[in-house]
Amino acid sequence: AVQIVGARKSFGGKKVLQGIDLTIAQGTVTVILGPSGSGKSTLLRAVNHLEKLDEGYVVVDGELIGVRLVGERLKELHEKQILTQRARIGFVFQNFNLFPHLTVLENIIEAPVSTGLLAKAPARERAYELLAQIGLSDKADAFPRQLSGGQQQRVAIARALALDPQLILFDEPTSALDPELVGEVLTVIRRLAESGRTLVVVTHEIGFAREVADHVVFLDDGVIVEQGAPGDVLVNPSHARTRDFLSRVL
Ligand code: ATP
Ligand code: MG
Repeated sequence: AVQIVGARKSFGGKKVLQGIDLTIAQGTVTVILGPSGSGKSTLLRAVNHLEKLDEGYVVVDGELIGVRLVGERLKELHEKQILTQRARIGFVFQNFNLFPHLTVLENIIEAPVSTGLLAKAPARERAYELLAQIGLSDKADAFPRQLSGGQQQRVAIARALALDPQLILFDEPTSALDPELVGEVLTVIRRLAESGRTLVVVTHEIGFAREVADHVVFLDDGVIVEQGAPGDVLVNPSHARTRDFLSRVL
């Protein structure tokens, strides 16, 4: 579903992605691990063109993201085309990023209504279905500040699902949560994994990775040090850097 080819990105003089090649198969769950500053968020953001690569490109379902080929060169797409592509990719942030002045229901219907994908009535209907799926039917009219972190993150996932994306990116979806709220969010993600969508999850939840991931990628210093099945990378890593990292997060 996703191909990342030769991805390079620097900020100032700092090389943050130093040549990443990664293929993510349709309907699979990929977990990305790595120390702080290793480039995980930058890589994830490059997939929906929130971050523009210096070199390399990203293909989602056969379509170049954010760029088009002109002869041998990559040229930026128009902003509107990029927004259209981005709308097909769900993104869940560490800090939920809900609109604080909108209710839960309004947060969920915002994208489908503003993009013209759905009229208000069917968008509301869909939102109530999503709220039922995440166990928050009674919170439709609440504002984000009235919810716990775990509830806010579940709403953020429902919002990402409102456009029915086949690819969803999660950037440390549970790391801003109190420990007792992590489980309810991971349960929602686990259920999504069974729905046949393609999920890419940056997380330090090794237990979750071992149970749910089809593929685990260990990133360090802007390069993929190691990738493979969770039973290999997490249980029997072949690189000292991976072993060292795992011993620190476990
Ligand atoms: P964390 O686990 O802390 O979230 P990460 O692996 O997600 O880390 P990135 O956020 O991708 O790491 O950042 C990688 C490096 O790039 C860091 O050194 C960061 O300071 C730098 N960086 C990221 N975004 C920018 C930016 N917009 N401007 C300048 N530097 C940036
Ligand atoms: Mg990050």
